[in-house]
Amino acid sequence: MLVDAHGRVLRDLRVSLTDRCNFRCVYCLPDSEAAAAFYRTKFTGARHPAPGAAPAWKPREEILTLEEIERLVRLFVALGIEKVRLTGGEPLLRQGVELLVGRLAALPGVKDLAMTSNGFFFPQKGRALRAAGLRRISFSLDSLDPANFKRITGRDGLRSVLASLALARELGLEPIKVNVVVIRGWNDHELEALTEFAHAQGLHLRFIEFMPLDAGRAWQRDLVVSGQEMLQRLQARYGLHAVAPAHPAETARRWGFPDGRGEVGIIAPVTEPFCGHCNRLRLTADGRVRTCLFSQQEHDLMPLLRGGATDDALQERIHGIVRLKEDRHHIGEPAFVQPARTMSCIGG
Ligand code: SAM
Ligand code: SF4
Ligand code: SF4
Repeated sequence: MLVDAHGRVLRDLRVSLTDRCNFRCVYCLPDSEAAAAFYRTKFTGARHPAPGAAPAWKPREEILTLEEIERLVRLFVALGIEKVRLTGGEPLLRQGVELLVGRLAALPGVKDLAMTSNGFFFPQKGRALRAAGLRRISFSLDSLDPANFKRITGRDGLRSVLASLALARELGLEPIKVNVVVIRGWNDHELEALTEFAHAQGLHLRFIEFMPLDAGRAWQRDLVVSGQEMLQRLQARYGLHAVAPAHPAETARRWGFPDGRGEVGIIAPVTEPFCGHCNRLRLTADGRVRTCLFSQQEHDLMPLLRGGATDDALQERIHGIVRLKEDRHHIGEPAFVQPARTMSCIGG
């Protein structure tokens, strides 16, 4: 078992398949004119993203091959990991993603194989992923208004994401989760519309507090709509009742509708941290283990992996890394330093 120095047993591995993405979400990888204007006018200290400038992607030879990912996941699972979530960047940009899903789904010990995607390419890839063994998917959907969707994500993609939701339902990938990063002044006016959409469509919505992991480094506390504020707005209006957590490590506080259709979850890592129950590890596309979203240190497995290390040697190294897992994040404290790499590289 993987147990850290604080007694937490790690069961959940997030694997980033690529640092590349076809979207430019303002809270993650901003480069649109709208994002640049917002950053310029609002934050003097922010690094203004140059509109249209391509982020510096990792060269392909530094990215784990599908075989290396499969080997590492097998080793992690042998150490007690049960849940594997494929993410990125945009995981559907990774060539051979269906192949990888098939191989991971076949690994004994993987109890739950899921994916987080922006949903743009799912209409083309969904059937093959389902056939390969994908059972759960989360999509990001920050707005139901095409113009605002484009403003937030930098791309004209709402129609594709809505098509993805329909296909995921047709393929039986339910419950379908939908992630919304809520940013004051950008999409907080859509909380009710998104909630009603989730109810009507029977989706499991997750409103997520904006975290300081954006490439623009423009995060500020007053842009965060707290979980409490979201709940106050929604609970009475929709008669929401608390849903008991299925597991102590669950990040979302979940709320059900009176007729039992759909669900709203609120993930409040900034204002109500849940680090005490954190059971997650992250593997970046370039083979580094991150023990916390906000780690200042990454642990590179590449030298062992490409240096001919045995499975035992790799597992011993993983055990050592896990012991270094941070007890909590320090957002809001004077000494807090945003990690060098952003969410698109870390794997959300
Ligand atoms: N590209 C895929 C997507 O957007 O779903 C997967 C990778 S993305 C990094 C994973 C999740 O991280 C998304 O749900 C996204 O909304 C969330 N995320 C990214 N940046 C964030 C931030 N600064 N604060 C909170 N959540 C963030
Ligand atoms: Fe891409 Fe996902 Fe980041 Fe948006 S949140 S820029 S879709 S990696
Ligand atoms: Fe886990 Fe770090 Fe997130 Fe806390 S901040 S829940 S320790 S990943």
